[in-house]
Amino acid sequence: AREALFQAQKMEAVGQLTAGIAHDFNNMLAGVIGSLDLLRTRIKAQRYGDAERYIETAIASAERAAALTARLLAFGRRQPLDVKPVDLNAVVASLQELLGRTMGERIGIVLALDPALPYAETDAHQLENAIVNLAINARDAMPDGGTLTLATSVTAKVTGSWRGTADGPFVTLDVSDTGHGMTPEILSKAFDPFFTTKPLGQGTGLGLSMIYGFAKQSRGHLLIASDVGSGTKVSLHLPISPCSPAAAGETPARRALPHR
Ligand code: ADP
Repeated sequence: AREALFQAQKMEAVGQLTAGIAHDFNNMLAGVIGSLDLLRTRIKAQRYGDAERYIETAIASAERAAALTARLLAFGRRQPLDVKPVDLNAVVASLQELLGRTMGERIGIVLALDPALPYAETDAHQLENAIVNLAINARDAMPDGGTLTLATSVTAKVTGSWRGTADGPFVTLDVSDTGHGMTPEILSKAFDPFFTTKPLGQGTGLGLSMIYGFAKQSRGHLLIASDVGSGTKVSLHLPISPCSPAAAGETPARRALPHR
């Protein structure tokens, strides 16, 4: 029964995705068909004055449709990871200024970085993208202001929504906000590609699903805990690098604390 429920939920997600894309694609095709239709009428009447304009409109619509399918293909194709030992604390600290500007004046930023954090084994560039995306989601959940907290730690064991556990240890980044939170229904769909509760043009619904894919590809985990009215915590667990200074027995103390 659980498998059936899972399948049904998956079909619903695919259905939503397909409906959204079909809608956009249809609009673009309507542009192509409409322009060609007008062009045909003019040709029959041997009035060629506007012909070029109709052709331009048809080409522009077809090009937008082609760009949409290109984006879909790029989304389906997994970017290969450039995996290296990454100092998560240093990455977070390096983003502090950018995040400050992005969050605006009504959101305070708190960093709680574990000074003895080992290196993570992951792609630094995609990690940066993930952090910025998570912070933007947090900002969008706090329209009246609040606090964004970025915390790093080591997690021995991850207990997931799949009701199993994954043995670590992992290098963990928690991105927490004091925003409006998610209902259980929204939470259950949050990782679905193209699922968004944001107004048209403001959300793509791809952020969390891409970060989820990134976490899986890194052999890590992405988990969300959220309560309506009190906020959301997104936890990214990444494998520890065998080349960590900590693992090599060096003292990593205070290595990557942000300068204040
Ligand atoms: P997008 O941000 O473009 O909508 P995402 O995949 O990043 O796409 O997020 C999907 C949905 O999950 C959002 O539309 C929102 O409803 C919900 N969500 C994500 N992060 C948060 C958060 N920090 N607080 C509340 N809701 C969130």
